[in-house]
Amino acid sequence: MTTSSNAPPVPSSTAPLAPGATIGILGGGQLGRMAAIAAAALGYRCHIFSPDADAPAKEVAAAETTAPYEDREAARAFALAVDVVTFEFENVPDETLAAISEIVAVRPGVAALHVSQDRAIEKTFLADSGIGTAPWAPVGSEDDLAAAQAVGFPAILKTARFGYDGKGQVRVDAAGDLAAAWAEIGCAPAVLEGFVDFEREISVIVARDTGGRTESYVPVDNVHRDHILFTTTAPSTIDSALADTARGIASRIADALDLVGLLAVEMFVTRDGGILVNEIAPRPHNSGHWTMDACAVSQFEQFIRAVAGLPLGDPVRHSDAVMTNLIGDEADRWQDILREAGACLHLYGKAESRPGRKMGHVNRLSPRGDAGVP
Ligand code: AMP
Repeated sequence: MTTSSNAPPVPSSTAPLAPGATIGILGGGQLGRMAAIAAAALGYRCHIFSPDADAPAKEVAAAETTAPYEDREAARAFALAVDVVTFEFENVPDETLAAISEIVAVRPGVAALHVSQDRAIEKTFLADSGIGTAPWAPVGSEDDLAAAQAVGFPAILKTARFGYDGKGQVRVDAAGDLAAAWAEIGCAPAVLEGFVDFEREISVIVARDTGGRTESYVPVDNVHRDHILFTTTAPSTIDSALADTARGIASRIADALDLVGLLAVEMFVTRDGGILVNEIAPRPHNSGHWTMDACAVSQFEQFIRAVAGLPLGDPVRHSDAVMTNLIGDEADRWQDILREAGACLHLYGKAESRPGRKMGHVNRLSPRGDAGVP
């Protein structure tokens, strides 16, 4: 039942991929690994493209390419070998994705990747879509430093590109510290963001299919430790009106991006009950890992369904859950976790444990408590 990867491609086709088809994934981390496992459960093969020969996703995939993301020839050969391409992280060069998209459909698409790769482009896009963010200003030159002070202090200076888990971020307490902070991040293109005194952090994961229909998971509460996600509690305890607003924002962003796939939207809930969007990611997200055990259709299956042109699943949860990341040597406790009732352990198969490295996560389930939360 395999579709032919040698046939002339039809990049705009919205026909569902038949089981046996091959899904190409750019990126080989744990998100790709868990997506490949979900794809296999639906009868698909995955082909992982990553520069890392030992990438966690390659251990569970049918095929692999090991090459730098800048290698256009390797990217073209990869595109010819698969039936659709998606990505599990944002830092794929635009040119590589453009070359691939000449050969085979790329979902969520080049535009979604382009917007989410760069914080300045992302914030401009959100403002143009009428969605609130923290006050911010671009910092790309000495001249910008003076103008950016209008954002106010304290503030956070963030590199525009290639930042994750707090990397490339410096807190700036006063205007006089800004030049030194910029030097600290290598005078790279950056954004200065006003510090939000938030009440809590939430996120919403929304899927959008080839027909433009959206389905979102319930908003969740996220707690960060050392800039890295520590726990996700599902559902969030925000009231249902705010939960509806948060889900509506996520769907609006997915529509504005004309996204096909999955979108994670991280938000701040302000002390006056407003919502500001912090960051978007057009792919599965760490704050959606709870769905693997608490929902009939996990974020990874939903992602594969959208990318493969299948109908989306019902994102309803059957249990409440607290997801805790296992960072660095916390994963050494795997035997204790296995003994816990209601604990579902997921390890990523990474050979080397380093401080700050995500090695796995555990979902602790409890009976679904609040019948009022959809
Ligand atoms: P980010 O890499 O932008 O997702 O930031 C990582 C974490 O740093 C966020 O989840 C927040 O906990 C914190 N953070 C980022 N930006 C701000 C901000 N403008 N105000 C307050 N906290 C922030």
